[in-house]
Amino acid sequence: MTAGDARKSAVLATARALNAAGINRGTAGNVSLRVEGGFIVTPTGMAYDGCVADDMVRVAADGTTQDRRKPSSEWRFHRDIYAARAEAGAVVHTHSPFATTLACLGLGIPPFHYMIARFGGADVRCAAYATFGTQELSDAIVAALAERSACLMAHHGMVVFGADLDAALAQAVELETLCEQYWRVLQLGEPRLLPAAEMARVIAKFSGYGQQ
Ligand code: 13P
Ligand code: ZN
Repeated sequence: MTAGDARKSAVLATARALNAAGINRGTAGNVSLRVEGGFIVTPTGMAYDGCVADDMVRVAADGTTQDRRKPSSEWRFHRDIYAARAEAGAVVHTHSPFATTLACLGLGIPPFHYMIARFGGADVRCAAYATFGTQELSDAIVAALAERSACLMAHHGMVVFGADLDAALAQAVELETLCEQYWRVLQLGEPRLLPAAEMARVIAKFSGYGQQ
């Protein structure tokens, strides 16, 4: 197996893990991994269970591919996140139920829980709506991700990035967990929010957290 094949297998394994974790269904969502000169992304419109590694698509920075499948219709925002954010090694997009529910109300997530700081700031924004697969959607996502590693997408879902595929997958699971918790809190009343000074403290604490 070549290194390219191993990386395609890793992208497919992450895409399947989204479904196994219950945060994506059917052909919704997409996953990518940064590689030299571009990225490897899931193919458009194919269910991950029926895919083999060679169905994953290597896309150059100019959007072209030599591979046998067509890339995700969302290749533009994958490309643009890698271009805008040097720390992004992998990108995950899902239509997970709780993130999508909040996004359909146009809601971002305020600091109702300290773990919001995991995504780089005191909130997770909701990107403005634009048609799937468009440059307009990509621009809205890159803007909503400013100083953050995650955002919701109005009337659509969520997008997160991490240093590698495992980190991006973990971020997606974490964000969906927080969206579910926020949704539950909203059923009971007005959420109480952490003050900005406390969120700044948590953000600083996370910068060195979990490193063994
Ligand atoms: P693709 O199958 O083209 O990746 O599209 C899925 C999706 O979620 C579009 O936003
Ligand atoms: Zn989508």
